[in-house]
Amino acid sequence: MLAAMGNVPRHLFMDSSFADFAYQDKAFPIAAEQTISQPYTVAFQTELLHIKENHQILEIGTGSGYQTAVLIEMGAKVFTIERQQELFKKTKLFLPKIGYSPKKIIFGDGYKGLPEDAPFDGIIVTAGAPFVPNALLSQLKVGGRLVIPIGDEEQIMTLFIRTSEKDFEKHEFGKFKFVPMLNKKN
Ligand code: SAH
Repeated sequence: MLAAMGNVPRHLFMDSSFADFAYQDKAFPIAAEQTISQPYTVAFQTELLHIKENHQILEIGTGSGYQTAVLIEMGAKVFTIERQQELFKKTKLFLPKIGYSPKKIIFGDGYKGLPEDAPFDGIIVTAGAPFVPNALLSQLKVGGRLVIPIGDEEQIMTLFIRTSEKDFEKHEFGKFKFVPMLNKKN
């Protein structure tokens, strides 16, 4: 997984005047008051997904596309949703330009997931969610994993594993800090 991250040139996801910051283990502002997660967080969430070649992965919060590129580098087929128009447009053009083609980049609301392409082997939410959206749980395969930071001011990294049609296991992994997962009202 670290090798996959090493293959993705993080500086390309930032404004070129900040290239020096690209390899520090820090979050960094992208457009529209959003941030690209710090590399440690990307590594942590990616690891929890247990990705295998050709897994179908849904990402909520495309942002700069950095996390998307890491998932593609690991052999996943990635479906990614962004609700911020400016970032969506920018990243949709940018990712293929540097050689990363997600299966789909969607402008939409991550709370709803992507029912038409479900079920997924894994779902990763890259914004802080106030609660776990039921739509996302229901779009997991049995055996599938949802990695989601839950909380308002700060979040607890949470993993849900679907163990049967009806049952989920829940595991918690400590505190992180994300930009909020927004709903229609904000
Ligand atoms: N994975 C991104 C991290 C971006 S930060 C990267 O590697 O750069 C989180 C992103 O989630 C922001 O771009 C924000 O606009 C987006 N977001 C917030 N609420 C959302 C929602 N309801 N649906 C989809 N995306 C959302």
